Amino acid sequence: MTEKTVALLVAAGQGSRAGGDIPKQFRLIGGKPVLAHAVDALARHPAIDDIVLVVGAGQESAAREALAGRPVAAIIQGADSRRGSVRAGLEHIASSGGAAHVLIHDAARPFIPDAVIDRLLCALADAPGAIPALPVADTLVRNENSLAGDVVDRDGLSRVQTPQAFHFDMILSAHRAWDSAREATDDAQILRHCGGDIILVAGDERLEKLTYAEDFLRAEARLRAVRSTRTGMGYDVHRLAANEELWLCGIRVPHERGLAGHSDADVAIHALVDALLGALAEGDIGSHFPPSDPQWRGVASSRFLEYAAERVAKRDGIIEHVDLTLICEAPKIGPYRQAMRSRIAEILGLSLDRVSVKATTTERLGFAGRREGIAAQAVATLSLPALF
Ligand code: MG
Repeated sequence: MTEKTVALLVAAGQGSRAGGDIPKQFRLIGGKPVLAHAVDALARHPAIDDIVLVVGAGQESAAREALAGRPVAAIIQGADSRRGSVRAGLEHIASSGGAAHVLIHDAARPFIPDAVIDRLLCALADAPGAIPALPVADTLVRNENSLAGDVVDRDGLSRVQTPQAFHFDMILSAHRAWDSAREATDDAQILRHCGGDIILVAGDERLEKLTYAEDFLRAEARLRAVRSTRTGMGYDVHRLAANEELWLCGIRVPHERGLAGHSDADVAIHALVDALLGALAEGDIGSHFPPSDPQWRGVASSRFLEYAAERVAKRDGIIEHVDLTLICEAPKIGPYRQAMRSRIAEILGLSLDRVSVKATTTERLGFAGRREGIAAQAVATLSLPALF
């Protein structure tokens, strides 16, 4: 039996109480579609093997556009009701190998803390279902024609969120057994109807459903407020040798010798790649491009820098600033400085004022002073979302 955990992401809503004329799963928060936020949060969790996406009729191309290349196992068409859409997704999973566990989630809750998924999957060891829930803080009253009616006792009441986690076979058979004339607002009640216990785990305020226009404003503000600034540093040295080209900051610099080593040995770009990876805490250039791998021999280092910029973009990061220092006796860097800044700015897609290139000598001391090699230092400042 498969041990897979599949996330079933339901994004089949057609209308929008949130205003605007596009369904809310395709609206942008922080420049990124709601659906993409949800997919990224699920894909990031190490326990989730596959994501199956259910969209409404005619929404497949809009979904692909919103995903912008993010991989999902399948995009399938849902039904008129949420229950029907979930059923379609479960049947798809069943017909493509099944799963041990499934997390059923509404795309309109785009921010999914890892810890909630941890709690849900942990609870599945003790019951066939688990759902996140929060206590009800406000006083509840019945609305009797706009007059306050009786207070509803909130003791013992919980607000239920998604994702909802289930043993796959149990929720599939519960859906198949459900009377299709009835509607259900969530999947937990469908399983419960079949006698399956549902464990309540602690939910999270960040899982709030986006329903109204003000929910989107709040989500935007939250995203902006929780960015964190990261700084990374990099350092590299390459040996000067005869019969080598000299590449610095992606520019070929005329000189009687060039740098030897891995790739084109552009010491400045190597330091900068390490600074960017350092700010992401994602290892170093050697772990991403091992010098032992022949495919990187002689390659333009601009490719490593493009890759680092993609890693930043993948984390929804912004490169605020990079600062490079070249340490060498010769050649003189001054005449090339502007071209170097422009080239780095071009590769990283930054404006010129965010790219600094400086140079210094070591007063003829050490390997740089003896013109045996060139060293480079780099610092990169990033802004990253820090929601979870
Ligand atoms: Mg290097």
